[in-house]
Amino acid sequence: MAAATGVALTLAPISFTRARADAAVTGAGTTGDGQETRVVTGRLETGAADFVYIPVRVPAGVQRIAVEYSYDRPAVPAGTPGNSCDVGIFDERGIELDGKGFRGWSGGFRTSFEISNGEATPGYLPGPIKPGTWHVVLGPYQVAPQGMNYTVQITLTYGPSGPAFTPDHPPKRAKGRGRAWYRGDGHLHTVHSDGRRTPAEVAAGARAAGLDFMVSTDHNTSSSHGVWGQYAGEDLLIITGEEITTRNGHWLALGLPAGEWIDWRYRSRDDVFGRFARKVRGAGGLVVPAHPYCPYVACQWKFGYDDADLVEVWNGPWTYDDESAVDTWDAMLGEAVRKGRRWIPAMGNSDAHSEPQVIGLPHNVVYADDLTTEAVMGGLRAGRSWIAESRTVQLAFTAGGDGRRADIGGTLTAPADAPIDVRLDVQGVPGGTVRFVTDEGQMHQESLPASGSGSVVWRTTTSLAAYVRAEVRHPMADGSPGKGNTMGPNLMWGPMAALTNPIFLRRSGS
Ligand SMILES: [Zn+2]
Ligand SMILES: [Zn+2]
Repeated sequence: MAAATGVALTLAPISFTRARADAAVTGAGTTGDGQETRVVTGRLETGAADFVYIPVRVPAGVQRIAVEYSYDRPAVPAGTPGNSCDVGIFDERGIELDGKGFRGWSGGFRTSFEISNGEATPGYLPGPIKPGTWHVVLGPYQVAPQGMNYTVQITLTYGPSGPAFTPDHPPKRAKGRGRAWYRGDGHLHTVHSDGRRTPAEVAAGARAAGLDFMVSTDHNTSSSHGVWGQYAGEDLLIITGEEITTRNGHWLALGLPAGEWIDWRYRSRDDVFGRFARKVRGAGGLVVPAHPYCPYVACQWKFGYDDADLVEVWNGPWTYDDESAVDTWDAMLGEAVRKGRRWIPAMGNSDAHSEPQVIGLPHNVVYADDLTTEAVMGGLRAGRSWIAESRTVQLAFTAGGDGRRADIGGTLTAPADAPIDVRLDVQGVPGGTVRFVTDEGQMHQESLPASGSGSVVWRTTTSLAAYVRAEVRHPMADGSPGKGNTMGPNLMWGPMAALTNPIFLRRSGS
């Protein structure tokens, strides 16, 4: 059933007439007689279905399916969305939500694609072209007031299928340093979705950024998973994932088993997100709402955080929407403490797509048992991590008192009035501003020297603070350190250089 969720429209099927016998006569490698093309035109109005399915009856004997599409872009007044339409394809196994039929998606990044047994356009899955009803899917996510006129051209090439594609999945382990802090970027794009970097370029960029691991998160497809093996190495753990791009926000599925694909065809109101979150978690992966306040169309997060394992509070170079994400996350920490509930750790990723976006700006520094997918996922899940703008930023953050010590993501239990010293040692942020934030807001602010290195110690108790976390900010544009506990028309702070997950402080006996 097409419309399992959301709004979907299925058009009349497109048929191809050629029988297998004819294909055998023309043979492989021929053109003209060996190909058949159909052109579909149509029009969508404002308020069109989220997904428009064009059934394509594929006969036996097809070795390649090729699709081209285009649509008009009438001029619209400033502030009114113009036409934009995504494309993808499902095979004879069907278009059911979370079904087996997914064969690729290129969003709005490409105007054509091809699939055969041995190869496919990036974003698409090579494999058998079996007879049955395939579906080209259009995703008109913005339709101009004048409507959208589209053309889809489908070409089948007949002949024997070539050798099968052999996936080259990355290993789940690299040469680590045992239990240690590992740096990694959990949100990266390639030519397999809307990035302009090849997988080779992304892996080289991760190495250049001094990262120990990276997660591949192309939009809505698993097609890159089968190529990462050759780019991984003893020095770089490559983890497979996906960025699920819905109409109500984006989320990262990190640590997906290679080849696993997660469906994106739902809105918040369909109430199926939890089902996909459980699928990811059940497979050992992590569910991470991405850039929750990104102002771009369909990017704002509307699924809530009940099913989130982490939240991406810092996405790419520091901007206003990141401030909002940190504020929301901080409020959730307070709520978790109050209700005695699970807390949700923060992470930060570059979301780099193309030059000049910087891979590793920012990235996570994770305390993991080893440099393996499982251990890195475990460290992130437990919040044993902090976020660094680059590898030049280093820090250590601890809380100690009553003869005990706790690190990032941990809990220090002590009597209500026992003094607790919270200590941050930091390097690499010249003139930076250190903020200690608790469930009562900013409780301490101190500037770093021009060298960028320093130690900040602040004393509290478990009765005064339920958690404490650290931020290190660059100076403001005018060179001043920024002022906490004030208000004004501008941001109070310079860009983030480092952000830690909290250390929890718990009163003994409570
Ligand atoms: Zn996104
Ligand atoms: Zn992204």
